[in-house]
Amino acid sequence: MSDAPLIRTSRLLSSLNWLEHAFLPAGMAPPAESAFGHQRHTATVITAEEAFPPKVREADGVLTNGSRPAAIYTADCLPVLIADTRQYQVAAVHAGLKGALAGVLMQAVTRLISGGATPDSLFVAIGPAIASCCYELGNEVMDNIRANPLVTAPRYFSQQPRNERAIRPQARATQHGIWFDLPALGRQMLLDMQIPAAQIEVLPVCTYCSAEPRSSYRRNTHTNEGYDLRYAWIRRR
Ligand SMILES: [Zn+2]
Repeated sequence: MSDAPLIRTSRLLSSLNWLEHAFLPAGMAPPAESAFGHQRHTATVITAEEAFPPKVREADGVLTNGSRPAAIYTADCLPVLIADTRQYQVAAVHAGLKGALAGVLMQAVTRLISGGATPDSLFVAIGPAIASCCYELGNEVMDNIRANPLVTAPRYFSQQPRNERAIRPQARATQHGIWFDLPALGRQMLLDMQIPAAQIEVLPVCTYCSAEPRSSYRRNTHTNEGYDLRYAWIRRR
């Protein structure tokens, strides 16, 4: 086993030679000049200029057409990086269940489109996040999800899915609930905004059972082993 930290990238975003991006492992600092908001699970998206110095403004998404890295931090939430091949804008979005249901992905895409993007000019990568193998929700939460008009095709399982890629035990059921597919929710919202399916990549890494140690907030609530934030960033070259 190597001790080198595992920096993940998207095959799709790596195919765009005008940008750089990374999904960093738990505990690794983002580039020093990165812009990011004070995240509150909202639908607020601001520019990188507004989000620097970091955390001076409340926001859960950062976009820019400049070269400053747009960044977000997550534990189990969706880290979503977006590139616009028409106007060369980039965006980083923190979309947990609450932020996704509040519309943060729609807000980010709407802002990019007002900057000159079109849905078919957008390329999106959804990084490591808690997946249906480990994300149990109670039935009341599930009722709220079903009632949300932004959720057109909820994907969930009554039996806990087995993750073939797991490198540590999956979450144990605690509430006889359902196993919700948060990455699929993000993907569905992007598809509903007419982004082509071939331009959306979901990295198959669950923060609870298949990412590096200390990646998962929920795992820590079960095991008390601690967790560190995971940064994702994207910028124009
Ligand atoms: Zn898992």
